[in-house]
Amino acid sequence: MLYLKRSLWRHRTVLFILIVFLSMLLPSLLPVKASIQEGSLPSTTPAIAPPPNLAIPDEFRGKIIRKVSLISDRQVIALTFDDGPTANITPKVLDILKERKIKATFFVIGNHLKNFPELAQRLVAEGHAIGNHTWHHLRRLMNEFTATREIEDTATLIERTTDIKTRLFRPPHGFLYNGLVDYAQKRKDAIILWSIDSDDWRGSKVSADYIVDKVLANVNPGAIILMHDGGGNRANTIKALPKIIDSLNQLGYEFVTIPQLLQMGSGK
Ligand SMILES: [Zn+2]
Repeated sequence: MLYLKRSLWRHRTVLFILIVFLSMLLPSLLPVKASIQEGSLPSTTPAIAPPPNLAIPDEFRGKIIRKVSLISDRQVIALTFDDGPTANITPKVLDILKERKIKATFFVIGNHLKNFPELAQRLVAEGHAIGNHTWHHLRRLMNEFTATREIEDTATLIERTTDIKTRLFRPPHGFLYNGLVDYAQKRKDAIILWSIDSDDWRGSKVSADYIVDKVLANVNPGAIILMHDGGGNRANTIKALPKIIDSLNQLGYEFVTIPQLLQMGSGK
């Protein structure tokens, strides 16, 4: 009986010593835990950097750009297509660009994008850049709430469709004074206008040759060319585009996307 009591007492003593030991050990463990929280261990969800050909240099964010002054003497030029995606025109434009290994930039309308997400996915997969051209393509004066929705709803759909957070904005009709550009500048988008209007938006009122001549007569390095893959009859755009590309290639021009052009330029 006495032996049993002693044995129990010995067990309690061992347990007590163990608890004291652990309680001494615990504070020395806590700072380690704290230093892990504050330290430089990699996050489990690292931020994904945009692909290099889509980054917009800071000096162009929030700026209105018509053409780019190039740092080097490379003969580069950017083709841009507005008002798509459309089922009958966008695939033809993409085919022509693919055949000639040309990269361009597409300013899409949200209200069209929602109907043809696969075309936006195709253009991004084929290496073209995508920009925001608002949801409804309005010219009228609008309050900040409407301007915000026009731009943000389109930006959200572009991101949901293509995984791209575009920082390129082109105001419908190139109109700067209805509230859209004010809001786009607040969100630090690059406002991309153009230096060469191909006049293809005039549809069947001009010929394909007229469109080609209009571009070639005004071409220079750093230029931004306005064309359309939506918004009406664009048969002449499809006819003119291969001639424009081939002629400019013969003149020694390289075609780049708008982000690439900005990366080669100076904002001053
Ligand atoms: Zn437009």
